[in-house]
Amino acid sequence: MGAGGLGCPAALYLAASGVGRLTLADPDKVDLTNLQRQILYRTDSVGAAKVEAARSALSALNSDVQIFPIQKKLGEKEIQSLLPEVDIVLDCSDNFATRHAINRACVKLKKPLVSGAAIRFDAQVAVFDLRKADAPCYACLYPEDGEIEEVQCSTMGVFAPLTGVVGALQAMEAVKLLTGAGTTLSGKLLLLDAKQSEWRTVRVKRDPDCAVCAAR
Ligand SMILES: [Zn+2]
Repeated sequence: MGAGGLGCPAALYLAASGVGRLTLADPDKVDLTNLQRQILYRTDSVGAAKVEAARSALSALNSDVQIFPIQKKLGEKEIQSLLPEVDIVLDCSDNFATRHAINRACVKLKKPLVSGAAIRFDAQVAVFDLRKADAPCYACLYPEDGEIEEVQCSTMGVFAPLTGVVGALQAMEAVKLLTGAGTTLSGKLLLLDAKQSEWRTVRVKRDPDCAVCAAR
């Protein structure tokens, strides 16, 4: 979900790793100001639909990966209708409305969700393995009615290499979830301060009062 600063590096590593099928959803077109961080695109992609430019770049990298581009802003119902066909969801979006819609759909269909976010010099990555009954969801961490100020890369800017780090981490967690290798970030939130080069991990527990989890 999202073929921007996080979705580009994540999709590159997933395609390079040889995942069978990638569904890419993003309503936007490539803009010159995106090229600083959206590394799937080139100067001659400016003006093209991101998901189409992404498809041609990813196919050139690995022609065995099936790519399904969706040039649309998806609502919760549309996301839900896509989920039976997928093993895992990567949230590479840039706003809370979409993040919560993705979370609700993943809770409902019990799909593992790999969430990433980056703004300025700060980033975070988390895994919500909703296949497990006791796993927290995104809304356990950030309630839907919470008073969190919305800040987006399009207005606030983001340190370009940081989006690469976060997208690569999301791909890493996704491949681990798909293959069962190692231990994922499930139940943990990884925080990265790029300015100080400091990493922190905090535990995330299921919130008994979470309105989204109440429907599980
Ligand atoms: Zn929850």
